[in-house]
Amino acid sequence: MKNIIFISPPAAGKGTQSKLLSQEYNIPHISAGDLLRDEVASGSDLGKELKQIMDAGNLVDANTILKLLENRLMKDDCQNGYILDGYPRNLSQAYSYEELLKKMNKEMGHVIFLDIDKSLAVKRITGRIVCPNCGSSYNLNVSELRPIKENICNRCAHPLEKRSDDNEVTILKRFDTYMNNTKELIDYYKNMNVLTTIKINEEDSAYDTFNKIKEVIND
Ligand code: AMP
Repeated sequence: MKNIIFISPPAAGKGTQSKLLSQEYNIPHISAGDLLRDEVASGSDLGKELKQIMDAGNLVDANTILKLLENRLMKDDCQNGYILDGYPRNLSQAYSYEELLKKMNKEMGHVIFLDIDKSLAVKRITGRIVCPNCGSSYNLNVSELRPIKENICNRCAHPLEKRSDDNEVTILKRFDTYMNNTKELIDYYKNMNVLTTIKINEEDSAYDTFNKIKEVIND
């Protein structure tokens, strides 16, 4: 199984797609945002600094995120492939990532760009709620992604919460920061011949997108 990297602005559905792929191919889903949020949840000094940066919609510094990622990729469950989302986010992270792959004797694999319009991203993200206990994600603006019981996690019955950085002001900034930083990354992977672009349409279900991704992987 090849490694999969998602390049995806906020709300394109990378979290949902990563979970589906993880179940289908039995490989771990590693989200850069989750690695950082785990550090915040640990209550460490580093976590407190990270929270301020993330709540403001800014990027965390390159070395911190690289170290957290290296620790995660060294674990046994990454031996047969993994899904990486939220990293790399710019060219400089792409270069660091390639160094890391070399050091760990791993291959690049597939890079999948989930292409979503900003207006659809804002609509989706303002409806998003997550489970702080098991990480499941729901969306009040997408019928198939609503929790069965209002505000309760389907999987573990924990009360659901809005993420503190999921407000309209922060999402607009996160979207613009993301696209400004990743434009050159998309071109870079296109030139390497490892990139596939999948357009996210409002009428597509998560499973429509999932099937398109599987076609790329099984090719
Ligand atoms: P996400 O869960 O991908 O929306 O990320 C939430 C926040 O975590 C971002 O707004 C950034 O502050 C931080 N973050 C996530 N991935 C990265 C990354 N690759 N490099 C730097 N900061 C990141």
